[in-house]
This record gives sequence, structure tokens and C-alpha cells, in this order.
Amino acid sequence: MATHRTYLDWNATALLRPEARDAMLRALEGPGNASSVHAEGRAARQLIESARAEVAALVGARPVQVTFTSGATEANTMALTPSVGGAGRRDRLFVSAVEHPSVLSSGRFAPEEVEILPVDADGVVDLDALRIALARSDRPLVAVMLANNETGVIQPIAPIAQIVHEAGGLLHVDAVQGAGRIECDIEVLGADLMSLSAHKLGGPQGIGALVRRNDIQVEPLIRGGGQERGLRAGTENVAAIAGFGAAARAAAAGRQAEATRMADLRERAEAGLKAAFPQAVIFGEGAARLPNTSLFAVSGLKAETALIAFDLNGIALSSGAACSSGKVAASTVLKGMGVEPALAAGALRLSLGWSTGEHDIEKWLAALTKVVSGLLIKQQNPVMAA
Ligand code: PMP
Repeated sequence: MATHRTYLDWNATALLRPEARDAMLRALEGPGNASSVHAEGRAARQLIESARAEVAALVGARPVQVTFTSGATEANTMALTPSVGGAGRRDRLFVSAVEHPSVLSSGRFAPEEVEILPVDADGVVDLDALRIALARSDRPLVAVMLANNETGVIQPIAPIAQIVHEAGGLLHVDAVQGAGRIECDIEVLGADLMSLSAHKLGGPQGIGALVRRNDIQVEPLIRGGGQERGLRAGTENVAAIAGFGAAARAAAAGRQAEATRMADLRERAEAGLKAAFPQAVIFGEGAARLPNTSLFAVSGLKAETALIAFDLNGIALSSGAACSSGKVAASTVLKGMGVEPALAAGALRLSLGWSTGEHDIEKWLAALTKVVSGLLIKQQNPVMAA
């Protein structure tokens, strides 16, 4: 990352932690194929298994519960399958309205088997609506994320798990944005399945994991050579797995101190935003949120134009969902929360991470006044701007 840049888009991807980089460089130095019995093969196996233990520790699981995948998109797709858990078919999939597209696309369920669970104005799943919805299924599978990628809003997973289990269901939790940032113990949360992605916690892109409760069976998406106990075939990406393990360990070790530091920086950013633009709206402000995330809008501002202006000022931000290949599409999350489309079109996301410091927030606040005031004047007087 060029040093003159201010990177505030950690929910899209976190910068690689030095610990992860070192582990990856060491792993690239030459272990063999982890399926080989010779010393080189055993060295690769050793790297994979110690990374598995580090990832398991991050979520309070045992290593055997962790299956490495190409990322959370794959882990979500693998989990959302009618055969999950064995002993007959899950007849219905319920997903919250604010899920990531990789969950909303509903894995291996047919579209007519999927129902959307409503959320309140802060984006939190409505527990009464959940109870009522679950009565429509004998064997439900429910997917609710731990924390939202756009707003940072945290879902009440433990109470949700209780409701789901009482209804005879299984709960899948996309924990991509919460893991390493807030408590994410699979037992404490009561999740049956959980997805993780290395690149949101300072590991490399293209590696993730599906973590399962001990007895939950899953159906492989990719069959072949029997790797990952037959659950995910293909020669393992040893360097990426080693980087994931190192990032998971570093994130777990610094989690509590980092959460306080992030919350202070975010508070400073939001106080500065409100002082400069009292009409600014912060989405999900009334709910528990990740300490590193702020999604806001200033009425009259278009996110796409603002993003470009911030970028030209050396600042990387996002308009909420970055997943649509450079396109700034309308946010389904804000739609689910009932936000007016005109306001949603101006939503900008600030997300912080391990290398963010006070100077980054100061730089952002200085640019904010310049960029937003400039754009609001231009948008109100288009002729003058031409
Ligand atoms: N779920 C959430 C909540 C995410 O934020 C993301 C990444 N944008 C994913 C899933 C997909 O993860 P991956 O990039 O590892 O496929």
C-alpha cells in the first residue's frame, strides 16, 4: 500500500498482517504435497494442521471441525444445502434480509424453498417474525450473519440459535466480519455451522473455512482426491492456509485491545462527521455494532461521486457493498432496513483495521469537509459546476 494513501475499507479486505506475510513466505519456501508421505509432504501437512488449530482456536472449536475452502463464498454455499446435518432433507431455508449475496443466493436450495426474514430499522433480525416463520417448516435451516459487512450491526445470535433449535432447525452463521473483531465462539453463539474468510482478518484472499458443530454432516461441493477428510478435494493451498492460521492467531491475541482502540477511532470519526454535517445519518446507530465500522449518508450526496472525490484525495472508502465488481449497486441491506432509496444512494462506509491510526481519521475528517461540501454545492448548482 502506497504510504500516502489512507486505507479505510477494511471490511472489503484487510491489509495483510506482517505475521501472515511471514508465514506465507516461509510456506512458499518448499514444502511438498501434504498428501505425500515423505518429509517434504509431512512438512506441508504440519503447516496445514497447525493453521487448522489456530483457526479453530479463534472460534472455540476443535481442529477437526474446521474445513478449509477457497473463501467464505464457498463455505456459505457448502453449508446451505438441503442434506446438511444428515437424517433427511431440510425443507426450507430462512435467510435474513441483510445477508451477504453469497448467502442470499441460497446455496443448493431451490429459489422457491427460500424465505427472507425481516429486520428492524437498525437491521436486526426480528425474533418474533423468526418464530412465526419457523412454524411454516418441519426441518428448517436458518442463516443469520454475526455482523453485517455494510453497517457493522451485530445480530443476537445466541437467542436466535435457541429459537432455531427449539423449532428443530439448524443455524448457519456467516461470521466473516465478526471473527477476530468480537466474541465469536461457536459454542457460546450456539451456531451449528459457521463461515470464515481469511482476508477480513488480515490473512490472504482466496482462503476461508467452514466450521461445524461436531456431529453436523455436510455434502462436498468439490469431489476428487479426498483432501479435507473428503469434504473439499484438491491439493491444499498451503501458503494461503498458513497465512490464514497466522492471521487468526494475531487477530485473537489482539482482539480486546483492538476493539477498544477501534471504537475510540470510530467515535472520533462519527463525532467529526456530525459536527461538520449535523444532518448526517449513521445507519444501525441504535444497535450493537462492530467497533470498526460506520455506514453513513449525508442527504443530497451521491456515493459514487463522493467515492471518486475521496479517492482523488488519497482516501479509500466504500459505498457499503463492494462486491459488485466496481459497480456501486443499490444496497439490499439498506433496502431491508427500510431506508429511503435517495438516502441509501448516498451511503458511504468507513471501516478500520489493525494499521489504522489517529492520523488516518484526521486525514479523513479534513477531506470529508472539503469533499462533501464541494459536492453538495455542485449537485445543488449543476450549471455552475459545468
Ligand atoms: N460474507 C460476508 C459477510 C462478507 O463480507 C464477505 C466478503 N465480502 C463474504 C461473505 C465472502 O467472503 P469471500 O470473499 O471469502 O468469498
